[in-house]
Amino acid sequence: AKAAGRNMVCFFDPKIQAAALARAMLEAELRQGLSRGEFLLYYQPQLDSEGAVTGVEALVRWRHPQRGMVSPAEFIPAAEDTGLILPLGRWILEEACAQLVRLAGGPVGQDLHMSVNVSALQFRQPGFVADVLAVLASSGADPRRLKIELTESLLVEDIESAIDKIQLLKRHGVCFSLDDFGTGYSSLSYLKRLPLDQLKIDQSFVHNLLLDARDLAIVNAIMALGQAMGIAVIAEGVETQAQRELLGRCGCTSFQGYLFSRPLSSEQLHAFLSPH
Ligand code: C2E
Ligand code: CA
Ligand code: CA
Ligand code: CA
Repeated sequence: AKAAGRNMVCFFDPKIQAAALARAMLEAELRQGLSRGEFLLYYQPQLDSEGAVTGVEALVRWRHPQRGMVSPAEFIPAAEDTGLILPLGRWILEEACAQLVRLAGGPVGQDLHMSVNVSALQFRQPGFVADVLAVLASSGADPRRLKIELTESLLVEDIESAIDKIQLLKRHGVCFSLDDFGTGYSSLSYLKRLPLDQLKIDQSFVHNLLLDARDLAIVNAIMALGQAMGIAVIAEGVETQAQRELLGRCGCTSFQGYLFSRPLSSEQLHAFLSPH
């Protein structure tokens, strides 16, 4: 009766009703977009201190027939709520692995990592490990070139099962990066137990690095943590040379951001990687 009462309130609240309608429309459009092949991956280069490209992060885009290019910030949350992130996430993994195979034939491709964002719902599926291994096998991609980006909140929920999954995939050579590091809820004791390969300094700490001493302190702390635990650190959202230099002075040797390149289409990426 209580739940029904709540539903009644929702039903008669025009604001909530409009939001629910918009969400239902988005869900229908997402479903259609998936079946019509409207999604594509962009790739943002990651560079070392010498400026060499060491990897790329796959970032999904939706080429909507009416709305044009839609940002993942607009549809990933809805895809998660509706469960559509499962078929979408599977497609993203397949496409990223296919790209990895194409890159391996190119000039620097052999050594490139492909970072793929995995959502909480996707990672929590009991079949997640088997799915990743199946996609790797059918694509022929080298598992050691695949890097899975997870977020902190996703790991906290069931740390034991998260550790199991990470360890299983690591046995096949797959790498793991902790995305948006410092913004989630995970405690340092979790970090100690997770067999991670990389921490990704969230761009919110990079943004004001030159202006806010607290951000600089956080970046230095993350660098020290990574060093002490033997985990590599990459900074994302690097937009200026001054940020890149200060990060370098903090000991950071891996960078991603508009300073080096925006996310690129597959064609743009291959051009970016070919010697000029
Ligand atoms: P994220 O994983 O933290 O990705 C980094 C975001 O920062 C990307 O936005 C990227 O385009 C943007 N970015 C890169 N360099 C800079 C910079 O120098 N300055 C600024 N201001 N931004 C920069 P994007 O592509 O819009 O993606 C937003 C979020 O959507 C991602 O955040 C991620 O959480 C989610 N997402 C994107 N692709 C996927 C995907 O394939 N699967 C899943 N599950 N989530 C995805
Ligand atoms: Ca990411
Ligand atoms: Ca991030
Ligand atoms: Ca983020």
